[in-house]
Amino acid sequence: MRTFVYTSHPSRVVFGSGAVDRLRQEVERLGCDRVLLLSGPHLEAATARVREALGGRLAAEFGGAAMHTPVEVTEQALAVLRESSADGIVALGGGSTTGLSKALALRTGLPQVILPTTYAGSEVTPVLGETRDGRKVTQSSPEILPETVVYDVDFTLTLPLPLTITSGVNALAHAVEALYSADANPVTDRQALDAISLVARSLPRLAENPADGEARADLLHAAWLAGICLATVGMGLHHKLCHTLGGSFDLPHAPTHTVVLPHVMAYNAEAAPDVMRRIADALGVPDAPSGMYDLVASLGGPTSLRDLGMPQAGLDRAAELATSTPYPNPRPVTAEGITELLTEAWHGRRPE
Ligand code: NAD
Repeated sequence: MRTFVYTSHPSRVVFGSGAVDRLRQEVERLGCDRVLLLSGPHLEAATARVREALGGRLAAEFGGAAMHTPVEVTEQALAVLRESSADGIVALGGGSTTGLSKALALRTGLPQVILPTTYAGSEVTPVLGETRDGRKVTQSSPEILPETVVYDVDFTLTLPLPLTITSGVNALAHAVEALYSADANPVTDRQALDAISLVARSLPRLAENPADGEARADLLHAAWLAGICLATVGMGLHHKLCHTLGGSFDLPHAPTHTVVLPHVMAYNAEAAPDVMRRIADALGVPDAPSGMYDLVASLGGPTSLRDLGMPQAGLDRAAELATSTPYPNPRPVTAEGITELLTEAWHGRRPE
């Protein structure tokens, strides 16, 4: 008989095309009079829409969020926040902007409304990874979890195709690892499988037409479900490796997930055959690890760590770092096994 423990993380979600029209109402619902708006580059039109929606409730803006949430950037934003006497945070952007919002909420206790523009899923997790002196440290706390998420599908239409692909695979990675997590449960399993089929269906459509609104809605829906998976159950080897490669080798977050995922799936396949079968069914392929690789390759996504700028000489060090502390994974994690996995990923070979 299956046994499990399930804890959900409460967040309010508003989803749809034009959902930004509800933003002011959502800010007021949290009792905020003056908010700090966080945004970033490449989102000028969306930022203008958010400013308009906030009207007189906009107190100040900060646009300097950076990947992996460096503490120096958080300190700059904190100074702007304190200067403005804001009583809430609104963040428009991908995981980097959401990370900054979470870092500010952790330090001030202020409520957050997130408008995600990528598929990273951070907006529904109580987790924050911050980088200090070149080391990324992750923590989890209810203070970090954003109160409200406004998913406006229109804001994802501008996400360039390469980022759409890698960010979509980032969402797939949350779902895949949730299915073989030691904390797996029937609710998260269902969400993970739905997320996988939605991504597998929507990415090829977006490769044909990045402005396909229905496919964008499916992918954002998948990102939300996958984000819930990430928030609810512990992740395994894949997330540990990507965390190490991002934090210690400065590799880009979503492309690293995209390259590494098929190789971690191949590494874990024999130890989790039922899960791989369910993933293969959801992807609509005969074999999950090679099917995942083929999906990425057919979309023109990155397949090798070499192309992401990973030095071959760093593979042993990465394996050592990723295996320095034990964590749950279906197949036991050894430095030798991980070096082999990373070597395959570095060359970009198709898992057999
Ligand atoms: P990102 O937020 O850094 O965005 C990547 C680039 O895309 C940026 O240049 C951004 O300006 C641009 N962009 C974003 N949305 C756009 C849009 N709609 N149109 C045009 N350009 C757009 O990338 P990401 O992959 O979303 O986030 C990565 C960060 O999030 C990492 O630091 C990672 O650790 C963190 N993360 C955290 C969690 C968590 O639960 N704590 C989960 C996932 C990711």
